[in-house]
Amino acid sequence: MKIAKNTVVTVHYKLSDAQGSLIEDGREPMVYLHGGYENTLPKIEEALDGKSVGYETTIQVEPDDAFGEYDPSLVKIEPRDRLPSPLEIGMQFEGTPEGDDEETMIFTVTDIADGKVVLDGNHPLAGMALRFALNVADVREASDEEIAHGHVHGAHGHHHDELDDDDDGDQFRSMPIQ
Ligand SMILES: [Zn+2]
Repeated sequence: MKIAKNTVVTVHYKLSDAQGSLIEDGREPMVYLHGGYENTLPKIEEALDGKSVGYETTIQVEPDDAFGEYDPSLVKIEPRDRLPSPLEIGMQFEGTPEGDDEETMIFTVTDIADGKVVLDGNHPLAGMALRFALNVADVREASDEEIAHGHVHGAHGHHHDELDDDDDGDQFRSMPIQ
């Protein structure tokens, strides 16, 4: 079966930077719904479209096509008491940028000092060119439900739980994500 719109693709990957230093060895394969559902980077879909199980390739993706250029305006400072305890550098929270009530972003704690916390809304891989070594392990037809939801269900896929519907409470979730 060939990879096409509305197929579920299981792909082993290794992620490195443009110099070849390993960032993530992808011990768990990525499983995504193919066909522009923004489950994975468009450049990865482009590279795999029309291919079958066993196909291997390595692609390089520039920051613009990956996680964007680093944007210093996405760094903000919050009072320590607005965030839950315990708090550590590297923890991530969902929040909204200043003056924007619509879009939620992932903020990473990058510094804690003097009762204040530095939150960085840039993706940890922002500003980096990335190299993906890809190896297609499985291709199957997506179910109608997966197509309707725009994501994969089942093993390694999306699991629905109560947290999914529990948004827009506090500005920051009380539990760190991931
Ligand atoms: Zn779903």
